[in-house]
Amino acid sequence: MTAEGHLLFSVASLIMAHKLQITPEIAHGDWLHMVPGALLGALLPDIDHPSSIPGRLLRIFSLPISKLCGHRGFTHSLVAWLLLMISCYQWIPTEWAIPNDIIQAFLLGYISHLVADMLTPSGVPFLWPLPQRFCFPMIRGKNSQRGERFIAIILTVCACFLPAGYQFDFYNHIDMIIKYIHNQIDTHIPT
Ligand SMILES: [Zn+2]
Repeated sequence: MTAEGHLLFSVASLIMAHKLQITPEIAHGDWLHMVPGALLGALLPDIDHPSSIPGRLLRIFSLPISKLCGHRGFTHSLVAWLLLMISCYQWIPTEWAIPNDIIQAFLLGYISHLVADMLTPSGVPFLWPLPQRFCFPMIRGKNSQRGERFIAIILTVCACFLPAGYQFDFYNHIDMIIKYIHNQIDTHIPT
């Protein structure tokens, strides 16, 4: 997926998360904090590709990550996202006083990148270091950029039409995702 696709998808995801009020910070956060946070998070996973935008800006990290894990490896996994979340909440010095809405939008942008890459045929190793790749290949072929824009627009339009005050049952959906991952493991990894 292109950087433009990831940026569009992260903003669409942010609008959706805001409407669904997935956390109080995202429901009531400042857009001037949340939009840059989500955009930054949406670009970061591709640091494992030296010619990507974060790869060019942070070559010192990009080259070793790319050599060690390859493109769409570790940085495109749940482990990387969890490490990032722990770093944001445990290791950032409190005196930096980074607002919570920026951090949550950043983490949302990051996970939106993984979901967006799952829409392409090569998928992502969501449960890295397990080799299984997860994908729902909706975007493929020559018109993939149009497909990316189309999905981002659909997501944004759906978010805009959600009734005000609609609350998403976040924990029930997390439970469904965990069950889906279990099924995928049972199907693809014989015991
Ligand atoms: Zn990627």
